[in-house]
Amino acid sequence: MDVSEIIIAGDTPGIEWRLPVFRFKGRTAAAPKTYIQAALHANELPGTALAHFLLQRLQQAEKDGAILGDITVVPQANPIGAAQSHFGELQGRFDLGSRTNFNRDSPLIALGDRDRLIDDLDRYSATDRLKRQLLHMALGADLMLDLHCDDEALQYAYIDDAFWPEAGDLASALDMEAVFLSDGESSAFEEAVAYAWKYETGQKKTRLPGRLSVTVELRGTRDVYPELARKDAEGVFRFLVARGVVTGDEETIAPFAGIVAPLDNIEMIRAPEAGAILFHRDIGESVKAGDLLATILTRPGLADGALEVRAPQDGLIVTRVSTRLARRRSDLMKIACAAPSSAVRKPGSLEA
Ligand SMILES: [Zn+2]
Repeated sequence: MDVSEIIIAGDTPGIEWRLPVFRFKGRTAAAPKTYIQAALHANELPGTALAHFLLQRLQQAEKDGAILGDITVVPQANPIGAAQSHFGELQGRFDLGSRTNFNRDSPLIALGDRDRLIDDLDRYSATDRLKRQLLHMALGADLMLDLHCDDEALQYAYIDDAFWPEAGDLASALDMEAVFLSDGESSAFEEAVAYAWKYETGQKKTRLPGRLSVTVELRGTRDVYPELARKDAEGVFRFLVARGVVTGDEETIAPFAGIVAPLDNIEMIRAPEAGAILFHRDIGESVKAGDLLATILTRPGLADGALEVRAPQDGLIVTRVSTRLARRRSDLMKIACAAPSSAVRKPGSLEA
């Protein structure tokens, strides 16, 4: 295992960021190359815990001569975000300096322009340098896992439909309960990787066999426990075996049995007005159209001081917010459904 650091100059004197990178050299040039990063949203640590245990497992595999394809792991992809403690609260999702989401505004380039990502980095802010360095590493791979988590959530993933249904092996190996099929119209890290592959040649590709770029949502922000992290690391390892990146016990991965829903079929349940949130239903529950999901105490103590929020259609509750104070129109839940939502969705990602 080779451990190195990428050093990124800060935007002010005296600051520099260090990004540890772990690399394993594969024995077989033809085997898929893999890139795995965690905590690009710096407050999302389940993936960091996964990476810790996966690195141990990979070191053993290396000793056994079992690593076939090159593997790069970045367990904490965002030192800039991790340092943003604002009045005692970690702000790991948005760069405070530019107000941009660390997982949006990734450069959208064709694969052939990969090396230009890190040309003349002095022209860019620290956050943009970080995004470019990470994307540069990811575009050296065939398989890219970007490990995130939601607020309160089941295990699920965003997968571009160019990779489906082949990516069912990852979903099954990681025991996911849902897959959200995305349409490649955002600048999230995972989409930037897929974009580079789609536009590798003049003709846009709609299928990308042998490749995978995915945002894995490893449950909720508080789901950081040794047992879960070990289980998830084992799941990723099984996926790597299945894809021929490492040799291991040849167990077949069962077909994915969870819900597969295009983004149009995700009901984003929003608060109609501000108030305290009383949830009646939890993640993992199946609901019917009209079921009471939450009561919002808009004017506590008054006869008409509570509003009911009901399910627009049947579905599985995949995520729920952890805050108990709603702002008007703030998200409460994501429900994966069999039919498209009647709410208008902007192209791209579900959330800012
Ligand atoms: Zn995230």
